[in-house]
Amino acid sequence: MEQKLKDEVEARKTFAIISHPDAGKTTITEQLLLFGGAIRQAGTVKGKKTGKFATSDWMEIEKQRGISVTSSVMQFEYQGKKINILDTPGHEDFSEDTYRTLMAVDSAVMVIDSGKGIEPQTKKLFQVCRMRGIPIFTFINKLDRDGKEPLELLEELEEVLKIDSYPMNWPIGMGRGLLGLYDNYNKRIEIHHPDINGINGEKIVELNAEGKIEGDHPIKKSSLYDQALDDIELLNEAGNDFSEEKIINGQLTPVFFGSALTNFGVQTFLDTFLNFAPSPSSHKDISGNKVPATNDEFSGFIFKIQANMNPAHRDRIAFIRICSGEFERGMDVTLARTKKKIKLSNSTQFMAESREMVQRAVAGDIIGLYDTGNFQIGDTIFEGKKCVEFEKLPQFTPEIFMKVSAKNVMKQKSFHKGVQQLVQEGAIQLYKTFHTEDYILGAVGQLQFEVFQYRMLHEYKSEVIMTPIGNKIARWIKPEQLDTSMSSSRNLLVRDRFDQPLFLFENQFAMHWFADKYPNVELTSLL
Ligand code: GDP
Repeated sequence: MEQKLKDEVEARKTFAIISHPDAGKTTITEQLLLFGGAIRQAGTVKGKKTGKFATSDWMEIEKQRGISVTSSVMQFEYQGKKINILDTPGHEDFSEDTYRTLMAVDSAVMVIDSGKGIEPQTKKLFQVCRMRGIPIFTFINKLDRDGKEPLELLEELEEVLKIDSYPMNWPIGMGRGLLGLYDNYNKRIEIHHPDINGINGEKIVELNAEGKIEGDHPIKKSSLYDQALDDIELLNEAGNDFSEEKIINGQLTPVFFGSALTNFGVQTFLDTFLNFAPSPSSHKDISGNKVPATNDEFSGFIFKIQANMNPAHRDRIAFIRICSGEFERGMDVTLARTKKKIKLSNSTQFMAESREMVQRAVAGDIIGLYDTGNFQIGDTIFEGKKCVEFEKLPQFTPEIFMKVSAKNVMKQKSFHKGVQQLVQEGAIQLYKTFHTEDYILGAVGQLQFEVFQYRMLHEYKSEVIMTPIGNKIARWIKPEQLDTSMSSSRNLLVRDRFDQPLFLFENQFAMHWFADKYPNVELTSLL
């Protein structure tokens, strides 16, 4: 790869922001977009109540419920870097989509509410990041409110998530008593409300060689300053050492405190984050070999498909993470699954709601391709003769199920089209009963069904009847071991969309009973 292109790839920072709902992910994302000049005015999150919506919230249903349903992608430039942020839905019902998105990033930012600490969804998302071994940066938010003690929050990171932490900065007070941030990494203090707590309104006070403020300063009069110095001393002596290598390997998380809402500590976070967050380097293929980002030939994989992002234009977009080389509009590529040649002429780049036609993009970037039905989630596309196929995306075993049919039997066509498209998007899983071919939908969370029903009605004009059949345990069985007489009222036999047989067991008891009765039959789950 020529040097110019290498520099361009090096300038890419592609990451996801993960959090439990309400920790402040949307608010931070908007602050970052503001720094990058990508938006002029923070929208919005409060707009959930007032009627304005965050730039990253797309669909009608998100607006109605005030939650992010699908992942969106935002690109902006900041200090010579090209930044790609992949937004992830925090709602637990959308974990599948979120998990796939985490396959397409090089690092993650974990936002934690200082009042709540580590919440269940944070933990789940963290585990996916850990599985991938990507670096994780922590932003402890809402410092403008009284929250848990900072030392307690670090302890939670180590005890609940089992990751070592290194505080890059440290709060001096919190809530109404927040005076500033002791910037342990840059050796300075960032002053909160400089007009009140600073001298002549200065925002930054440099520290002396001992890590203290030289001379007189209003902040020094507060016992909170002494407390922060004591904490820092304790951490420097007994805490973890800073190690860039451990950060890159995902073994140590640098921790930043701040307040997204009042934009305090966010820019320092961004600057330091960009210093350490990795640029695109390589991606594993199906045999575990690494495909370097600096390979000359283009390659990438599809981690998400979404239909009807813009109701005004019926469209379907495949989101591609470029893993190597350079994308140019109109280029010819091969689809690894079918070995079919495809011309990539209709492509787009994202800035939340606005999209631009993209002419060119490089490794690390995310582009959207208008899809006419060629692509499936997990597909690899590549340029040149040498076949590239990236590792499989994780799949998740659905836990709740519904029977579904069209209300109006005369409208089967739009029903089937809608089901087929939403299933291909990965919005929901589809199964068919073995003999009668009834449709059964499977999901990880209840809300997926509601979104399905809503989208069927609004996008495909198809009213559906959904009959809950409750929680089930799905286990696949090898076709050669299958005997249809194994099926009973407690273990419903169905096929998945690849025609593979599986049982939906009523409960653990039914599954154990089955395993005892057929000890040689192997039952498998996905993840
Ligand atoms: P998300 O669900 O993680 O995207 O969270 P949001 O960004 O939507 O924030 C949830 C709520 O917390 C909103 O009411 C925000 O205004 C509020 N919020 C976000 N950041 C802060 C902060 O730094 N301080 C305070 N006090 N509130 C915040």
